[in-house]
Amino acid sequence: MPESKLLVATRNEGKIREIRDLFTGLPFQLVFPADQFLERLPDEPDLERGTSFAENAVAKARYFAKRGNVATLAEDSGLEVDALDGAPGVFSARWAQMHGVGAGDAANNALLLERLAGVPDELRTARYRCVVAYLETPLAKPQLVEATCEGRILTAPRGSGGFGYDPLFFSADLGMSFAEASIAAKQRVSHRGRAIRALVEVLVRRPT
Ligand code: IMP
Repeated sequence: MPESKLLVATRNEGKIREIRDLFTGLPFQLVFPADQFLERLPDEPDLERGTSFAENAVAKARYFAKRGNVATLAEDSGLEVDALDGAPGVFSARWAQMHGVGAGDAANNALLLERLAGVPDELRTARYRCVVAYLETPLAKPQLVEATCEGRILTAPRGSGGFGYDPLFFSADLGMSFAEASIAAKQRVSHRGRAIRALVEVLVRRPT
């Protein structure tokens, strides 16, 4: 199969690392916005203002496919905590900022611990969810795949790998936090690993 060029619509370093790794050895030439000289424009943050992961994933894919004029993959993902009625959900990336208590991973994790203070272990269940959207051309109908991975929220961070909420996310599959896991182990069971592998299955089987 000839290599096809695929623009991956993210600037998140953690996601870039994992997505590059997931495509290793596959017949795709991955490029990211910076490789295509697609500089960050003021309207970019508005792409993630939808009310569902799918809506946000499609909005990002559409936006970058139009700017890059090339087949594009975008993903939207986040953490859903049962004791918080599914929060932070689609707001995962900017949760602390929305509540005026800082910004970034450390602030998000601090807020999560605070919101779950006193909640017993058995009620700290959570999952990561990821929706991947693929557009063959800028105006094509999007192909969507979704995946989750289950776990619970620890009472203190563990490990130094991964990104985002990983030090607090104890994976039910791995029996350790995602920040304690190797990248290979995380990819095997993670929401992103599962969703991207499912999309790749679809892409490699499509008629050429
Ligand atoms: P977005 O998809 O760009 O809105 O960002 C997703 C946000 O969800 C990230 O900034 C993280 O806070 C969180 N998130 C999604 N996937 C992961 C993961 O694999 N590990 C840790 N945090 C994640």
